[in-house]
Amino acid sequence: MKLIDKIKTEKAVKKGELEVPFPQLKYCVRCCLPETVEGITFDERGICSGCNSSEQKMKINWEDRWNELLKKVEHNKKIAGDNYHCIVPISGGKDSTYQLHVVTKVLGMRPLAVTFSHTWFSETGKYNLQNCLEKFDIDHIMFTPKKSLVDRLAKQSLYKIGDSCWHCHAGVGAFPLQVAIKFGIKLIIWGESAAENGTKATYFNPVRYDAEYFQKISSKVGIDQMVSDEIKRSELRPFMFPTAEEMRKAGVEGIHLGDYIFWDDERQVDFIKKEYGWREGDVEGTYKGYKSVECNMAGVHDYLKYLKRGFGRTTDHATRDVRAGILTQEEGFEMIKKYDSLKPEALKYYMEITGLSEAEIIKEIKGQRKGAAGRLP
Ligand SMILES: [Zn+2]
Ligand SMILES: [Zn+2]
Repeated sequence: MKLIDKIKTEKAVKKGELEVPFPQLKYCVRCCLPETVEGITFDERGICSGCNSSEQKMKINWEDRWNELLKKVEHNKKIAGDNYHCIVPISGGKDSTYQLHVVTKVLGMRPLAVTFSHTWFSETGKYNLQNCLEKFDIDHIMFTPKKSLVDRLAKQSLYKIGDSCWHCHAGVGAFPLQVAIKFGIKLIIWGESAAENGTKATYFNPVRYDAEYFQKISSKVGIDQMVSDEIKRSELRPFMFPTAEEMRKAGVEGIHLGDYIFWDDERQVDFIKKEYGWREGDVEGTYKGYKSVECNMAGVHDYLKYLKRGFGRTTDHATRDVRAGILTQEEGFEMIKKYDSLKPEALKYYMEITGLSEAEIIKEIKGQRKGAAGRLP
């Protein structure tokens, strides 16, 4: 965005001239995020923590960061001996292919790819996963939980976290760690920096990816809360995070590549499409074809977020584009008003596997609104 446009929109938001999706909510003066984003804060200028964090990207000495990464890589190659140098958790999304490109072609590492299957793969997602395994010619482990369990967890998830996908969040977080400990692999390489959404970390204050971090995550939406009359504790082992003690003993470290190299979604997608034949698809609830293209239920996940907090997937995407200068803030809000509220096709499938009616789902999710979200219609 041109500076002059930016100043114009900042003024317009302050004066209430810019038509935001929900006038009863406060929005960042710069991007499209409302105050209902979990953990968001605004500075005295009205700029959100995400915008401030993403601006840090411009001030970072990326060469220093790259050298830091190289040191880490060399160290891990040395201590690995004949073992795998690292684990790369992959979903088949665009980050997976890009991560594997960097890890194998640029850093020359020997990874073990690990996938926790959410079981909701789209056809494009299946293709992309298989494609990257073959293109990079790497070993792979995939864990797939049984369907009846996924169905029951998808229902319980709505009541416990207001989202359809607890099993995916927990499994994707826990399973690579379990594999790291079992195989004695010391390094896990994730993709995008946790600083990108600006609520849990910043580029100068990255998430400390240690035992305590996992425990915090795990206690937040731990397996204890998921046990019910319909879900036995013994069924939930694949979702169990190692204890802090186990992590310390195993000496496993996790890093995000996005903390070491400048992360640019658009350019990465162009690159992996041309270089490796990665495919985009239609994702419900947004105008972008490359985010969460691997999952059929992404639309439900984001629609529930929309009902609970007043913003969905398009808000996330438009915000990125506004920050990157691809859309103006006003254009971002236009997109959001057009797409965020659309009911996803996949909701039918979610109703089928949970046995819940649409009215029951909406009632439950609206009942979970907190703070400013209480002002939503
Ligand atoms: Zn912002
Ligand atoms: Zn989810």
